[in-house]
Amino acid sequence: MRQFLSILFTSLIVFSCKNDSKKLSDKTLSKPNIILFLVDDMGWQDTSVPFWNKKTSLNQKYVTPNMERLANQGVKFTQAYATPVCTPTRVSLMSGMNAARHRVTSWTLRRDTDMVKPPKGLKLPKWNLNGAQPTDGINQSVHITPLPQILKDNGYLTIHAGKAHFGAIGTPGADPTNLGFEINIAGHAAGAPGSYYGANNFENSKRKETIWNVPGLEKYHGQDIFLTEAITKEAIFAMDVAINKEAPFYLYMAHYAVHTPIQGDSRFEQKYVDKGFDPKEAKYASMVEGMDKSLGDLMDYLDKKGIADNTIILFMSDNGGLSAYGRGGKKHTHNKPLSSGKGSVHEGGIREPMLVKWPGITKPNSSTDRKVIIEDFFPSILEFAGISSYKTIQQVDGKSFIPILKGKKINDSERALFWHFPNNWGKNGPGIGASSVIRKGDWKLIYYHINERFELFNIKNDISEMTNLASTEKLKVTSLAAELGNYLRSVDAQMPTNTNTGKLVPWPDSQK
Ligand code: CA
Repeated sequence: MRQFLSILFTSLIVFSCKNDSKKLSDKTLSKPNIILFLVDDMGWQDTSVPFWNKKTSLNQKYVTPNMERLANQGVKFTQAYATPVCTPTRVSLMSGMNAARHRVTSWTLRRDTDMVKPPKGLKLPKWNLNGAQPTDGINQSVHITPLPQILKDNGYLTIHAGKAHFGAIGTPGADPTNLGFEINIAGHAAGAPGSYYGANNFENSKRKETIWNVPGLEKYHGQDIFLTEAITKEAIFAMDVAINKEAPFYLYMAHYAVHTPIQGDSRFEQKYVDKGFDPKEAKYASMVEGMDKSLGDLMDYLDKKGIADNTIILFMSDNGGLSAYGRGGKKHTHNKPLSSGKGSVHEGGIREPMLVKWPGITKPNSSTDRKVIIEDFFPSILEFAGISSYKTIQQVDGKSFIPILKGKKINDSERALFWHFPNNWGKNGPGIGASSVIRKGDWKLIYYHINERFELFNIKNDISEMTNLASTEKLKVTSLAAELGNYLRSVDAQMPTNTNTGKLVPWPDSQK
């Protein structure tokens, strides 16, 4: 009898386990997991994956085997764009709005405070310096229905890992859990870590302010661990939670790397020193490789758990690679063949390394030159999640890039992309300064607010933006300026004031 009961009990366990695994697979098959792997300040060429038509010397410098692995499994976007600085990109991601519409046009930190003063000759508009908010009660902010909130409302376990930088200190938007993330690992108002070193408690002891101290990673304090690694470990624990709950997950894996402070990751730095790199560049390359290891660790985890075939991975950066200061070597050259870098509307500041793997849909090792911009992630991610009916407070500007992933033939020569930055980044260099931009087909027109000057480039022929054609292609300037002006007016974009005239800077198509 005892033996019979034991057999019965064992069979019940087996039956019950089988039932569980069936339930899990049905559930996970119906909703894919989604990982958005967003790197901070990573340039288009900071990788061994070639995003141009040939392997460049920068591609040969950087070592990113896991980006190569992802590129081999998915599609590479060679013309993917973000805004030139952190917060506008992140708010576009969370809202699906273009920066001209959401008005968080520069980076945020302190409440009611413009972090970068205007340049001589311009007075900044009242832009949304308090960032994105889940409420309409905060002045100078944009009230949105955030992407993770919609995913959470539709059964996703939403995980924030790393840098948030969505809203100013002391506002609800500073805390990712107020924006629809169920789990928050290390995210708050600040856009950089005090230190990447666990041994330093991820703090800069020389700074009196505590705002740069990375929150929530106390268990790694005093340990010999790099921030990128600590966040990755915590993200993996959070994915375990989702698997145990049998819930599909959205992991927003937003690394602080490779933003300043540029600090060497000891696991990789010596290799670059031995290759003769400039000491600062050896540190930078080690941060890039540490970021790439994190991507590999996540991919290994998905393989180990048997969920790689049901997990979509998107790889992106939030703006171009830093080049105007703080790097080894010559300024404005760190994104070659692209001109300039972070803070600039030249390609070096806005063109990003983007990869997408959608198992069973994307063609392995494929590439597209179709243009996409950061607000496109919002409708695309909701479409990945199978969420078609949703309401948002904000008007969504982004267009889903899923038809591109499905290999549909799309003529995007008619779609115009727009940037608007009526602010000051604080450094000088090519393409840096208050401006509005339109990209359409092969052409790109930049309108500088300070002197109402144009730059016109044919990006297909002149990816390095060396030859300004504004004085020779006047009809092209007129037509693109008209389209840019119409767009800016349609989204109620803000212009700065010219302090010499006391008037708003004119629209690009209504110059004196
Ligand atoms: Ca950034």
